[in-house]
Amino acid sequence: MVPSLETGIGSIAGGVHLHNLNALDWQTRSAGRVSGLMGYVGRAVAEAVFPQKCRACGSFWSYVPKFPSGEDRHPVVLDPVDGLADVFQAVAMPWLCPDCITSFEAVASPLCGRCGVMFQSRVGEDHLCSDCMRRPGNFRRARAAGVYSGAIMALIHQLKYRACLALIHPLGRLLQEAFRRHWQPEEVDMVLSIPLHNRRLRQRGFNQAQMLVDAWANAVREEKRDWQRFPKAREIIVRSRPTAPQAGLGKPERRRNIRRAFKVVDRSAVQGRRILLVDDVYTTGATAEEAAHELKKNGADSVDVLTVARTMPHSGS
Ligand SMILES: [Zn+2]
Ligand SMILES: [Zn+2]
Repeated sequence: MVPSLETGIGSIAGGVHLHNLNALDWQTRSAGRVSGLMGYVGRAVAEAVFPQKCRACGSFWSYVPKFPSGEDRHPVVLDPVDGLADVFQAVAMPWLCPDCITSFEAVASPLCGRCGVMFQSRVGEDHLCSDCMRRPGNFRRARAAGVYSGAIMALIHQLKYRACLALIHPLGRLLQEAFRRHWQPEEVDMVLSIPLHNRRLRQRGFNQAQMLVDAWANAVREEKRDWQRFPKAREIIVRSRPTAPQAGLGKPERRRNIRRAFKVVDRSAVQGRRILLVDDVYTTGATAEEAAHELKKNGADSVDVLTVARTMPHSGS
């Protein structure tokens, strides 16, 4: 029997270091311990004392809960296409004001069946984009949860550049839900984060992609499922040389910048395996292509790519 990678979106827990806890964390955590009238009063007082700051636009906002559970805070709007927008609203609720939370755009068909780019025309079937027809590339399929713009972009920036590590939890849940919608669990043997070079790791202090995978592994472990499919990426593939940041570079420069930047250090772990690479953002695909090239060269059966967000040529990001 093939064990399942799939896990419920509400199941990530533990293992994530919650630095930068803001007032809201305190509110929700303390409010969760009491119930009924006391909970209602406690939350109302907490929110009056600590107004919430939107992580996207920076504005302070507050609300008057109609019900003790506070479930009226953001009415959940179901996405008729794939529902990832309502998942985003549910998981990002504590971090975003009511205006920003609606700016999430889920990645949805019609899209390129390989690289996952959404077509400007929103009617028709999935098919290969012209780039993928010209260059079949090294990975099999890339998918993302959302279009890299608006609130999701702001949350990823907060995570990466402001070390708001509490965001691993909502973004990890979104990532898992995207996997559930775009893959059959038995299509993947192993989940690996895109590694950072040691120098970058020391500068930043953490690898956000590895933390997303760790959160996923924790959820699977809690359900007593096959968490062995989530090895530490650095024991299998490493960045063998430092590279300049990809941000601000065009596609050919990105490809040159990342060339031969990865090295498989455990060939036997890779051979014959179907690998899912995880990263926070897919931009031109140069990083994913290069990592997939190294994995395939060392005997990987297939490489897929999953990211929290993806730039789209028409989105202007
Ligand atoms: Zn906002
Ligand atoms: Zn494509």
